[in-house]
Amino acid sequence: MSDFLFTRDTPAQYARALHTAVDTVAVHLAGTRAPRSAATPEQLEGLVAAVDLDRPLGDLDAVVDETRRLYLDHAVHFHDPGYMAHLNCPVAIPAVAAEALTAAVNTAVETWDQSTTATLVEQRLVDWTAERIGFLPAGEPDGVFTSGGTQSNLQALFTAREERLSRPRAGSRQERLARLRVVAGEHAHFSVAKAAHLLGLPADAVVTVPAGRGGGLDVVALERALHELAAAGDEVAAVVATAGTTDLGVIDPLPEVAQVCRQHGTWLHVDAAYGGGLLVSPTRRHLLAGIERADSVTVDFHKSWFQPVAASALLLREGRNLRFSTWSAEYLNPRHAVRPNLVDKSLQTTRRFDALKLWMTLRTVGAEEIGRALDRVLDLAGEAGRIVDEAPDMELVAEPVLSTVLFRHRPPGTGNDEADRIVEVVRTALFDSGRALVASTVLDGRRCLKFTFLNPGTTAADVERVLELIRAAARDAAPRTLEAAAGSR
Ligand SMILES: *Cc1c(COP(=O)(O)O)cnc(C)c1O
Repeated sequence: MSDFLFTRDTPAQYARALHTAVDTVAVHLAGTRAPRSAATPEQLEGLVAAVDLDRPLGDLDAVVDETRRLYLDHAVHFHDPGYMAHLNCPVAIPAVAAEALTAAVNTAVETWDQSTTATLVEQRLVDWTAERIGFLPAGEPDGVFTSGGTQSNLQALFTAREERLSRPRAGSRQERLARLRVVAGEHAHFSVAKAAHLLGLPADAVVTVPAGRGGGLDVVALERALHELAAAGDEVAAVVATAGTTDLGVIDPLPEVAQVCRQHGTWLHVDAAYGGGLLVSPTRRHLLAGIERADSVTVDFHKSWFQPVAASALLLREGRNLRFSTWSAEYLNPRHAVRPNLVDKSLQTTRRFDALKLWMTLRTVGAEEIGRALDRVLDLAGEAGRIVDEAPDMELVAEPVLSTVLFRHRPPGTGNDEADRIVEVVRTALFDSGRALVASTVLDGRRCLKFTFLNPGTTAADVERVLELIRAAARDAAPRTLEAAAGSR
């Protein structure tokens, strides 16, 4: 009757369903030659709208086929070398296998009595990551897996806020909240400002420190900002440094920032959502020097560690600070439970066993192999930077630091405004064609194109090919762009 459910009576149905799905993906994978199809949004809307959700097909094979036609055929494929847009990675195959295990068992890791070994596996990975960061032996680290860098940053700033307010000082909680500030570099991720807002801090709570030479947060300006805030009677919940800004890949000067934070008794959060993969890089671990002096660190395993979404973690140098996230319910996680309940450390309650993905990847290929894959991506970015720099019709906007390359298509004689305008034209044309995906952003008021590499299989030849597509798109659009410019006069 209910043989669509995973029970001891349905192992055959389960195996057949999974094999159908997996075989379909494998065939599809072998056949994909572009990061996406050229379908228009209207065509896709038509495909989805045509499905009658109240008339089930009754047969999984038919459903997988339908899903192939409306999802797989048009999905954006991060494993394709033409995908160079955002911080999405081709995924580790052992991790995809782990997804199949956890999806079937459906473990919820929040309490020992729903999770058992899964709790221990997550805890081992938290300890392992904390050790890689260098929190030992000075600290007593702990941490928790989260849904992503946004959640990790939110919990970090929540923890920092509570830690600050737990220090005695005149004024009510409300009065102190109104004077609480977060200090961050100008290129910090937008989730920092969003977290400050969610945490009830005032609208002007995020104090921005400009970048200095080298692109990282200017430490002298940071020191000045902290002095001014203290003089004004404001309290600083946290300083946020970024290890790998999303656009430029810049790593703030962590040792110097940590020194300033220590002098001011201020919480230091390092957002290493992007750069965290350097923890396992055989050649570039030194770029994260100083990260061990942070109070909290965000690491996104679903970016530079080649894990499927979602896999992220928040690590704290002093694990006891996770107590601010602890709420107890008699039915779930009573105080003084004998065994660990991970819900005591998390903003979430029901939570996926995402740690198994990283675990199975480490157990299959090891950390060094992950680091080598990241190294290849960083080498490629360096090479792409040189290719762009040497092309007479391209302008390298910034030297690559991690795996992003910011540039503009600017044939000789092209004005700044025209180079700005061409960015969106090119990006859209490439997306619409499905042949390559690149991103765009604004740096110092100028719009530029952005490559983000996270695919170790992408080569310099792929970069050359996409640059050619960019040139062709710009040429195709040139008359229209001129008309638009003429029309706006
Ligand atoms: C991607 C990113 C985030 C947000 O992480 P999600 O996993 O997308 O929530 C935060 N900070 C930085 C620096 C990032 O690159």
